Amino acid sequence: MKYVLITGGVVSGLGKGVTASSIGVVLQACGLRVTSIKIDPYLNTDAGTMSPFEHGEVFVLDDGGEVDLDLGNYERFLDVTLTKDNNITTGKIYQSVLDKERKGDYLGKTVQVVPHITDAIKDWIESVALIPVDGREGPADVCVIELGGTVGDIESMPFIEALRQLSFSVGQDNFCLIHVSLIPVLGVVGEQKTKPTQHSVRELRALGLTPHLLACRSAQPLLDNTKAKLSQFCHVEAANILNIHDVPNIWHVPLLLRNQNAHHSILKQLNLLSIAAPPDLE
Ligand code: ADP
Repeated sequence: MKYVLITGGVVSGLGKGVTASSIGVVLQACGLRVTSIKIDPYLNTDAGTMSPFEHGEVFVLDDGGEVDLDLGNYERFLDVTLTKDNNITTGKIYQSVLDKERKGDYLGKTVQVVPHITDAIKDWIESVALIPVDGREGPADVCVIELGGTVGDIESMPFIEALRQLSFSVGQDNFCLIHVSLIPVLGVVGEQKTKPTQHSVRELRALGLTPHLLACRSAQPLLDNTKAKLSQFCHVEAANILNIHDVPNIWHVPLLLRNQNAHHSILKQLNLLSIAAPPDLE
């Protein structure tokens, strides 16, 4: 199994869900089978009890799972049918660990965030990634994982640590990290600012994760010197810096990615260039 992890920096609501879904579309267009997992680092077991005014609409899956609306994006973009286990929350992970603790499964050990919670997260991801979601037999080729929230949040720390361990155990040919960040424009001069992205990449690195690609959200397309700065200071190849500027319709995002050869950078990182066909999104 190959994993593509999407993290977000600077602010929430950046468009990680749309980016993750669109990356899935581009990979599918290369002939790969794609599944997805959404991680929500909140303590609610699921989104069913959360106010839509606070959190956006609850999406109901075919198996009755009440989940984050991003799973609706995945189902629509990728034409897949997800299960409630494709949405991981802190609540679900803690509940499973506490249930095991009550059953005595830890054999007198002190139950801790590391390794018990982090192991539960890794096991959950690795088993759910194998569930076929596209109506065909056998597991998908690539699992796109979206980590909700913003890097550096206290809530997401156990997930970041589990994903760091996962990236190490699956090996670098099987793991691609795409960090979605914001490039704001300040003042009348209209300069695109890279510093917030530099800081969030530094935060990610401090936690042991290195981004292979940057997906930069901005109002207007990125200027060449903004890209050059990002590449130099964030240690990401210029070809791997993608620009997802505001578009009138989110269905344009997969095309934006295809036109920047995002598939090439991702497939190269995942060592899949030889088997994938060029994307056909027309
Ligand atoms: P996150 O997963 O980071 O919380 P979402 O993917 O849910 O963010 O997107 C937040 C909002 O931004 C949604 O309403 C989505 O339609 C919008 N959005 C995302 N990407 C773009 C884009 N490139 N252009 C315009 N709107 C976008």
